[in-house]
Amino acid sequence: MTDRTTPLPLICPHCDGFASAAVTLGGRDRHGHVRTIAAHCPACHGTGITRTRRTWEGARA
Ligand SMILES: [Zn+2]
Repeated sequence: MTDRTTPLPLICPHCDGFASAAVTLGGRDRHGHVRTIAAHCPACHGTGITRTRRTWEGARA
């Protein structure tokens, strides 16, 4: 029962899988909504996974 049928996706080590974040620009639009832009991780381009197998195991406790 230790074999996996599908390999685990390689989570981006730079953003730890949280590939995009909303950044407020300040102020609100005329509907009262906060104006935001999406900032993507430059390493994985907003996908949250990386295609290179670079092991960072042990980097986090
Ligand atoms: Zn990333």
